[in-house]
Amino acid sequence: MGYSGLRIIKEALTSQRGWKPVWRDPEPKPDYDILIIGGGGHGLATAFYLAKEHGLTNVAVLEKGYLGGGNVGRNTTIVRANYGLPGNSEFYSHSLKLWEGMERELNFNVMHSQRGVINLFHSDGQRDAAARRGNAMVNQGDDAILLDREGVRAILPYLDFDNLRFPIYGGLYHPRGGTARHDAVAWGYARGADRRGVDLIQNCEVTGIDIDNGRVTGVQTTRGAIRAKKIGIVVAGRSSQVAALAGLRLPIESHVLQAFVTEGLKPCLDHVVTFGMGHFYISQSDKGGLVFGGDLDFYPSYAARGNPPAAEHVMEAGLALMPMIGRAKVLRSWGGIMDMSPDGSPIIDRTPVEGLYLNCGWCYGGFKAVPGSGFSFAHLIATDRPHAPAARYRLDRFATGAGLMDEEGTGSQHNLH
Ligand SMILES: Cc1cc2nc3c(=O)[nH]c(=O)nc-3n(C[C@H](O)[C@H](O)[C@H](O)COP(=O)(O)OP(=O)(O)OC[C@H]3O[C@@H](n4cnc5c(N)ncnc54)[C@H](O)[C@@H]3O)c2cc1C
Repeated sequence: MGYSGLRIIKEALTSQRGWKPVWRDPEPKPDYDILIIGGGGHGLATAFYLAKEHGLTNVAVLEKGYLGGGNVGRNTTIVRANYGLPGNSEFYSHSLKLWEGMERELNFNVMHSQRGVINLFHSDGQRDAAARRGNAMVNQGDDAILLDREGVRAILPYLDFDNLRFPIYGGLYHPRGGTARHDAVAWGYARGADRRGVDLIQNCEVTGIDIDNGRVTGVQTTRGAIRAKKIGIVVAGRSSQVAALAGLRLPIESHVLQAFVTEGLKPCLDHVVTFGMGHFYISQSDKGGLVFGGDLDFYPSYAARGNPPAAEHVMEAGLALMPMIGRAKVLRSWGGIMDMSPDGSPIIDRTPVEGLYLNCGWCYGGFKAVPGSGFSFAHLIATDRPHAPAARYRLDRFATGAGLMDEEGTGSQHNLH
């Protein structure tokens, strides 16, 4: 079923009885060409692009819970292409272009809102770094504007410009950055993949990976054995555990990251703002809640809930930047399990096991990467060649020392970078 304005009018006139389930609920077949383990944003986008770009539809996505129940539905929804290093900047630039065509491509409203991202800086050194990053973004063909203090004040007058410890010197403005509705992105890719014939199999945990003579032959699951010629692992915070089923030890640590949302307020914050000193980022959702987050909880864990010290740290950073939010009531907080790589950049690569492919290491920036990652991973699986924008995301770079340390290096021992 295609979605359109006409369709909405027709359904309104016929008591909304014509809507169909957005995807099928098939039984797993015994055999597929390709299995994607993990029904998060990256797994669903991979399945979609395998079908759309490569005509590969004998594909199943195996998800241990429900589609979109992982990090793709838990993040603070910031979408941007403001990286500084070759290797990352072309990848995120490609991903942002896919975001800009996503709603048309999927015929699905993901509420992508290019409201602009402003990264604040608070010292001369940070200003230099922001200028360098902005130049790299412009050279990559993306947009960046260096704002001085008064330039920031004109857009965000409610910030605490005179904070003695963290005075605001200016900001790097990325107008094409913004937000999107996170779970709608999962639903849109799921619907797009399903419509092209991909089987989306929920409540199906992969418990074993079958290997014969150095080559994958299939998986064991809670819904039985399934054979396949190629298998992609895309399970975010569970990457180390699932890769271990194939005997692989990954350079990944899993850490908790929390997010918070306040009660609904009238529109007061029409950009994404990040605090360059306190690791705090905030935007306002379409329902009016202020959505914000900060740093990791700083110890490895598989718990999808956070701890009070990290929550307190985030609140303090928020109040230092934006005292007005002190009057808003926090309604909810939650956590997600982050797949932290040593250099803060992801891995999209083949593994030493023939037919087994790996996509992980997104740290806490993988939501904006969903379309680019799915596109590049599908290319790798379909053609056995890396997709150019993701060619630096090699698994062996940690052995060779060719790491890709960008932003602040959001690695596994994040506070030490
Ligand atoms: C609080 C928070 C804030 C964030 N903020 C941002 C942000 O503002 N911008 C941004 O770009 N990124 C952000 N991120 C990061 C982003 O959400 C993640 O990097 C990204 O969602 C991870 O990829 P995914 O969507 O595929 O993961 P997930 O949605 O976690 O998908 C992985 C799936 O694999 C499944 N799985 C695991 N093991 C198995 C198994 N054995 N068998 C079958 N299935 C299995 C899981 O159930 C899960 O559904 C944030 C994350 C969190 C938690």
